Amino acid sequence: MHQIPTKGRSQEDIFKDMEQYRADDPNWRSGRVWSYVYHAGNEAEELVKKAYTMFLSENGLDPTVFISLQKFENEVVKSIINLVGGDNKVVGNLTSGGTESLLLAVKTARDWARVHKPHIKNPEMIVPVTAHSSLFKAAHYFGLKAVMVDVQDDYTVSPETVRKAINPDTILIAASAPSYAHGVMDPIQELGKVALENNLLFHVDGCIGAFILPYIRKLGYHVPPFSFDVPGVTSLSLDLHKYGYAAKGCSVVMYKDKELRRFQLFSCTEWAGYAVVNATALSSKSGGPIAAAWALLNYLGEEGYLQLAKDTMDARNKIMQAINEIPELKIEGNPVMPLLAISSSKIDIYELNDELKKKGWVIGAQLKKRNMPATIHLTINKVNVDCVDELIADIKEGVKELSKFKLGNFKEKATIAATKLLASNLDSTTFEKVIQTLGMDDGELPDKMSTINKLMEVLPNDIVKKMVVDFMNELYTVKE
Ligand SMILES: *Cc1c(COP(=O)(O)O)cnc(C)c1O
Repeated sequence: MHQIPTKGRSQEDIFKDMEQYRADDPNWRSGRVWSYVYHAGNEAEELVKKAYTMFLSENGLDPTVFISLQKFENEVVKSIINLVGGDNKVVGNLTSGGTESLLLAVKTARDWARVHKPHIKNPEMIVPVTAHSSLFKAAHYFGLKAVMVDVQDDYTVSPETVRKAINPDTILIAASAPSYAHGVMDPIQELGKVALENNLLFHVDGCIGAFILPYIRKLGYHVPPFSFDVPGVTSLSLDLHKYGYAAKGCSVVMYKDKELRRFQLFSCTEWAGYAVVNATALSSKSGGPIAAAWALLNYLGEEGYLQLAKDTMDARNKIMQAINEIPELKIEGNPVMPLLAISSSKIDIYELNDELKKKGWVIGAQLKKRNMPATIHLTINKVNVDCVDELIADIKEGVKELSKFKLGNFKEKATIAATKLLASNLDSTTFEKVIQTLGMDDGELPDKMSTINKLMEVLPNDIVKKMVVDFMNELYTVKE
C-alpha cells in the first residue's frame, strides 16, 4: 500500500494481506527466536490479549478520568515494590518500556541536581560499558555527559573505577542488575556506598533482571541484594514486558521516595489548552498494556512465576553445561539469570551465528569491544525451553563444521584487512563502495552477517555509527 485506498476494502481482504506480510517473519512460536518475544504459554497469551483489547481504547492521558487505569497502575506498581522489597516510601510508575524508564530516571536525576546542586552546569553520569544503551541515549537526549567506565575481566564494574571517575560535575551512577549483554550483576552494595559517600544518585537498571531475580533467589540460587534494601540505591527500573511476560509497552520505574519522584513529573499550565500534568513521558496512552499487566500478574501468581523461573533456569543450566563441554566455546562471566553470552577463541563466533541462522535460529551477535570478546547472546525465556536440545545439537554441528576451515575465507580476510588499512582516512564515498560490495546498500541485510560484524569491529566508531544510521535511514523509505 502506497496510499490510502480511495474506497475501503473488505476485512477479509485486509487480513489476508496481513497474513501474507508476516509470512517472512521469524516463527517465534517455534522457540527458535532468542529474545524479542517473551511468551509464558498460550493460556497466558489469551488472557493478555483479552485484557489488552478490553482496555485498548481507554486512555491513560489523565488518570482522573479512567479511574480503572489508575487503579491497575497503582496496584501493579505496589506489587512490584513489594516483590523487590521496597519500603512504604518507595513509589513508582508504569512506563512504555525499559527505555522510557531509564530516560525518566536520568531526567529525574538531572532535574534533582538542578535544584540540589545548582552550581553544576554540565552534569555527568557514570555508566559502565556494560550498561544498557538506553542510558547512553538518556544522556544524549537530556544533555548529560555519559562517562563510560570499563569493566573487569568478570564483566563487573569495580567500585574503585567508579570512585575514580567521580568529579565535581557527577550527579548520577548507573549500574546493572544484571547487564543485558552478559547477564552479570554489578556490585550494587559497594556502588551504593560510593554513591552515599559522594552524595550522588544511584540508578540500578533491573530492566531485564529485577522481576525474575527474586524468584531465582527463592529457587535457592545466590542473588546479591540489588534493590532499595541496599543503602544508596535511589531508583530502580524493571520491565514487565520481559520476564514478567506482559504485553509489550510495560515497564516500572521506581524511586526511593516521593520527593525524588517529583522531579520526574512534568506540568504545562502556560499553553492554550487544558492544564497538563504527566507522570511519565507519554500523554495519550492505551490502557491495554496496563490492564494486561494487572491481569497477568493475577493470573500467574507467585507460583506461576516461580515455575517460569525454574523452567528457564533449568534450560539455562543445560545449555551452560553443554557449552562448557565444547572445548571451542566459552560462557563469558558469571551469569546470574537465563542470559548467556558465548564466545570462542578457536572458531569465528560470528560464523557460528551464520551457521545457526541457516538452521532457522535467530540469535544476536555482540561485537568485540574493549576488553570483551565477541559473543553470541541467548535470552532464554519460556518459549525457548523446549528447543534446548535442538539448539545444543545445532551448535555442536556448527562448531564441528567451522573447525574444518581454520583459515577462514581469504577474500573476506583481504577485504577486512584493506578496510582496516583504509579506516583511518576512509571517506564516505569509498565506504559506500564497500557497503555496495557487501550488498547492504539497499536497506537489506546479507545472509552472511559475519563479514559485516568483522568490518564493524575494525572500523572507527564514528564510521560505524554513520553506517548504521544510514542503513536505518534507508530502511524506513518505501521503494515505489
Ligand atoms: C531491555 C533492556 C532495557 C531497555 O528496555 P526496552 O524495554 O527494550 O526499552 C534496558 N536495560 C536492560 C538491562 C535491558 O535488558
